[in-house]
Amino acid sequence: MEKGNLSINSDNILPIIKKWLYSDTDIFIRELVSNGSDAITKYNKLIDMGEIKSSDEKFEIHIRVDKDNKKIFIEDNGIGMTDDEIKKYINEIAFSGATDFVNKYNDKMDSNSEIIGHFGLGFYSSFMVADTVEIDTLSYIENSKAVNWTCEGGIEYSIKDSKKNTRGTLITLHINEDSKEFLNVFKLKEILKKYCSFIPVDIYFDDLNEKPKTDDDGNIIVVEKKPINNKTPLWIKQPSECTDKEYKDFYREVFHDFNEPLFWIHLNVDYPFNLKGILYFPKLKHELEAIEGQVKLYNNQVFIAENIKEVIPEFLLLLKGAIDCPDLPLNVSRSFLQNDGFVTKMSSYITKKVADKLNSEFKNDRETFTKYWDDINQFIKYGCIKDKSFYEKVNSSLLFKNINDDYITLDEYIEKSNSDDDKATIYYATDLALQSQYVKMFKENNLDAFILPTKLDPPFISYIEQYNDKVTFKRIDSDISDIFEEDEENDSNKELVDLFKSNVNKNNLEVKVSNLKSSSISSIIVQSEEARRMKEMSQMFGDMPMGDMPTGETVILNKNNKLVEKLIKLEDEDRAKLICEHIYDLALISYKGLDDKEMITFIERNNKILEDLI
Ligand code: ADP
Ligand code: MG
Repeated sequence: MEKGNLSINSDNILPIIKKWLYSDTDIFIRELVSNGSDAITKYNKLIDMGEIKSSDEKFEIHIRVDKDNKKIFIEDNGIGMTDDEIKKYINEIAFSGATDFVNKYNDKMDSNSEIIGHFGLGFYSSFMVADTVEIDTLSYIENSKAVNWTCEGGIEYSIKDSKKNTRGTLITLHINEDSKEFLNVFKLKEILKKYCSFIPVDIYFDDLNEKPKTDDDGNIIVVEKKPINNKTPLWIKQPSECTDKEYKDFYREVFHDFNEPLFWIHLNVDYPFNLKGILYFPKLKHELEAIEGQVKLYNNQVFIAENIKEVIPEFLLLLKGAIDCPDLPLNVSRSFLQNDGFVTKMSSYITKKVADKLNSEFKNDRETFTKYWDDINQFIKYGCIKDKSFYEKVNSSLLFKNINDDYITLDEYIEKSNSDDDKATIYYATDLALQSQYVKMFKENNLDAFILPTKLDPPFISYIEQYNDKVTFKRIDSDISDIFEEDEENDSNKELVDLFKSNVNKNNLEVKVSNLKSSSISSIIVQSEEARRMKEMSQMFGDMPMGDMPTGETVILNKNNKLVEKLIKLEDEDRAKLICEHIYDLALISYKGLDDKEMITFIERNNKILEDLI
């Protein structure tokens, strides 16, 4: 038996590992399983290179848990290690065996991308959960002797002969008191699922404490074991070889979302970096607040983490997908990903791909694109606001739904509106029910308006105005001269305005007279776009004192309406007051609704009107 101390300052190493990985203790399983997978990959490379004869041997990783004895076993039938290799690769912590391997065989290999050499401290992460770690290993090299390496606390190790008689490596973890949770079969399976679902080697799971299943006569039933992972995730296939069904199935498998995805983007590049993956546009149920994307990042089919903002542009995190990047400059600590030129390049590549896909859908299949618009628009708008380069790319593919239920682009709207102005005015409604009177008037005047109902729309249109100086947006209930052309100033109009003002008795009430096409509308309230936006801003930023700022609201009385016409001639003052108040309330209802006091007054007045009818 040979004893020694680990050569790197062992007083420091564990606290450092623990500190780095503290929040992610469960990654030990990823590291050990991926080491097994690497060892098998290496073995297969040697076969490919003709160094080892090929056979029909099956390559497998077995995870066994023995809760009663507080042990977890991870075994592979890969390349194995000689005792020299153990000393070199395991004892000299900083020495990356993978790097060594790649260097040794570099010129013989066409691709070395399958070897995970990025994690560095991978194996030692096992000491986060285990007091003692054992390695039993038998190298593929002929006449090797099996070796057992045992290390307590990651500091003192011993090497002796091992009983292992099959090629490969068996890791035994003696789980510590604080980590007993990992002995729980469900927990362990869950972690395996998270990290190892797509590892390129079959993984089998065994609960050693489980009693064998028996039939009624007590005979043991042999259950055929199935791997718990999928060796060939869809993203590694060529996009041209994947069917729609496969994309949908894969989506369900990974995200457990019963709604079908709307469409997807299959990323597949070798240059300037290696990147594969699939991004799905999920079907949305609610507005933006409810969108919860999930983009999983893999390194050679080993799960790394989810929703890493440095790699995947933030707005794309609203999508669901898997991205596999073997070139990722990974380290156990993910903070190293920040400010890395490579990562920035990758992120903008993904953004570009998404924009390209949207543009090609818009150009080549506008009908389908339109069908999806209600679901994807929130995502796209958010993306535009977050990332100017994205906005510039998809800008001409942005659709707007209008009050006739058509989906058109900004340019199409401008063309239709035939405006000679340098700045085109784009009208929009935010609430079809509340603004129904205005919509009706718009239709009667052959004017078009977009429907922009979500919370994201106001910042989105401000954003467009900021970058496109040819357009300005106005809400459908703003002071629109196209419709509310003020009637000539004459005595009867002035009288009407005065009558209305004195009866409604509101401070700073602006009243105008107009001839609207819709004779059924007695009056309507409009508010200047600027004033409304100011008010919305101040509400957003809390109670900014608005003081005596003009509300920008104007009541437009419609002279084409019978009630208004008769009001001018009405002699009964009480009745005139009642009618003025009622007309005002009706306008208010279709403008922004009534508050509690206004509602009580309105209902009382209605009752009074009905009483008069009896
Ligand atoms: P990395 O995998 O990044 O090289 P690790 O700390 O995970 O770092 O592993 C260190 C080295 O130990 C590996 O590069 C490999 O040479 C060796 N090793 C670890 N696990 C195994 C295994 N199951 N089979 C063969 N070699 C192994
Ligand atoms: Mg490793």
